[in-house]
Amino acid sequence: PAPENLLEVNNIEVIYNHVILVLKGVSLTVPKGSITALLGGNGAGKTTTLKAISNLLASERGEVTKGSIVYRGEAVSELNPAALVKKGVIQVMEGRHCFEHLTVEENLLTGAYTRSDSAAVKQDLEMVYDYFPRLRERRKSQAGYTSGGEQQMVAMGRALMSRPETILLDEPSMGLAPQLVEQIFDIVKAVNEGEGVTFLLAEQNTNVALRFAHYGYILENGRVVMDGEAKDLRENPDVKEFYLGMS
Ligand code: ATP
Repeated sequence: PAPENLLEVNNIEVIYNHVILVLKGVSLTVPKGSITALLGGNGAGKTTTLKAISNLLASERGEVTKGSIVYRGEAVSELNPAALVKKGVIQVMEGRHCFEHLTVEENLLTGAYTRSDSAAVKQDLEMVYDYFPRLRERRKSQAGYTSGGEQQMVAMGRALMSRPETILLDEPSMGLAPQLVEQIFDIVKAVNEGEGVTFLLAEQNTNVALRFAHYGYILENGRVVMDGEAKDLRENPDVKEFYLGMS
């Protein structure tokens, strides 16, 4: 049987500042339990797509003017980001966004601020440290003094502390050395397999994303130009030529 789709984006248009049409009819589906990658170059519309889903466009004067976004069969376009978190969908923004003056552990605990079950929160903190041993070592450090890779881990760990069903992960590889990128994706895979968390991730690094993802969508200029199983996209001559830097 076909896998159940957790998230469906149907033909959405996004306009910024009432005039700039940035998404020109984007559709995608995210199967439950998958890692689905949203690929494409700078400015293709990846971040805009994620923000449309988590309803974070308003603060940037953007709006979805057409189409629908459905999570577990329910239209969610009108929900604010907090309500979406309650439904189990959380976004990890591009550029990490840690609380720099808090310690690593305090940052992680902010991800559980709506929860009152302190024993379970403590258990989840251990779960996060098991996936990110580096964060356990650095737990007393002020987040602002940790490295870019560690801050990416903090941002992901904090998202995990809300026990999400789906994580929208924006550009996890940004600014990281290749070895660290590999490490971050290894953790994404481990969390996907270990906790059953579904991922929709935006990534410019097509190569690494298609090695770890199950499905991929390639965006160009606000449109999906190709999609399919990651293993098929990896073998596709156009993808090889234009996105994988080999022909
Ligand atoms: P990046 O890797 O740079 O984040 P992206 O694929 O995520 O690229 P978006 O950030 O979604 O692309 O941007 C898509 C287009 O929308 C770009 O042309 C960008 O200039 C434009 N854009 C993004 N944010 C705004 C905004 N707040 N107001 C107007 N235009 C915007």
